[in-house]
Amino acid sequence: MTDAHIIEKAAHIIIEGGLVAMPTETVYGLAANALDAEAVSRIFTAKGRPDDNPLIVHVDGLMMARQTGVMNERAQALAERFWPGPLTLVVKSLGMLPLIVTAGLDTVGIRMPDCDTALSLISAAGVPLAAPSANKSGSPSPTTAAHVAKDFGDELFVIDGGACSVGLESTVIDLTADVPVILRPGVVTQQMIEECIGSVENASAEFLSNAAPAAPGMKYRHYAPLAMVTVVEGHAVSVAEAIKYLYDKDLKKGEKPLVMALRENKRYYGRRDIVITGSSGDPGEAAKKLYALLRAADEQQYSRIYFEAVPKEGIGYAVMNRVYKAASYNIVKV
Ligand code: AMP
Ligand code: MG
Repeated sequence: MTDAHIIEKAAHIIIEGGLVAMPTETVYGLAANALDAEAVSRIFTAKGRPDDNPLIVHVDGLMMARQTGVMNERAQALAERFWPGPLTLVVKSLGMLPLIVTAGLDTVGIRMPDCDTALSLISAAGVPLAAPSANKSGSPSPTTAAHVAKDFGDELFVIDGGACSVGLESTVIDLTADVPVILRPGVVTQQMIEECIGSVENASAEFLSNAAPAAPGMKYRHYAPLAMVTVVEGHAVSVAEAIKYLYDKDLKKGEKPLVMALRENKRYYGRRDIVITGSSGDPGEAAKKLYALLRAADEQQYSRIYFEAVPKEGIGYAVMNRVYKAASYNIVKV
């Protein structure tokens, strides 16, 4: 739990129209008063974020959510089941928010983060906070305070809440149509949602075929490190053979390659440079580590990353959604 005086100082900056980086359970957010158009415009400028990409509005509970958007029956049910937590509900906006927050849409994405520090800040400021990930647009999301400082320098007030417990952005679900639609996958999976409100559509499946994106903002280059990322998927032994071949070829060309492998496959790679993403039985570990690993690879100036795919099931589905984008759909199937 963060010191009360840090929260107070951060709340003061927010009320004055400034920006604060706050921890959440998903990734660090670059927060501003969602009711203050000028403050929100500073987020877009600081991130270099395209203005047709709406921001998620963070609330400290159902009451604040109801003052921001129309919490219909399904929204209410999902909020009761998953909040505080990594699920963003897109609902009709009540029209109190400046249009810059929602990129001109009449809907708004609302979420109550599962992080005491973030919740205390929202409550102390007394306003909903618009907060996208606290990174420069396009680069991997920040999961530590150091990642944020690396992108924005000392000028930005960062509340250090340690490493994020989830590590991937929230699931986004649009509840404004007759049949709800998942726009972005996350650790709250389609199955978990359907157990709560019945059948939903999954527009985020576009990433599997690299089709047109469903959610505004998802069309941009995202989550990407400087290194060229290649995803390799198939049976473990074939994956390792393919990666070793590509890796060794890179070395001869003067590249600096790195393998991001599952723990159980480490033994295939001998003395090659390797980091462990997780294990196929626990994609939650890969979710939590993914962005930190991508950022560390850049710091160590790797020029190529070979990523062993994790099974696209449960949380692994969201992990691979982000990895495909980080790889600009550079996928080798063996
Ligand atoms: P970020 O805050 O960077 O994780 O991005 C937030 C994402 O949430 C956007 O890129 C959209 O995909 C989605 N989102 C937020 N608000 C809305 C909305 N009103 N309608 C549809 N998608 C939204
Ligand atoms: Mg982002």
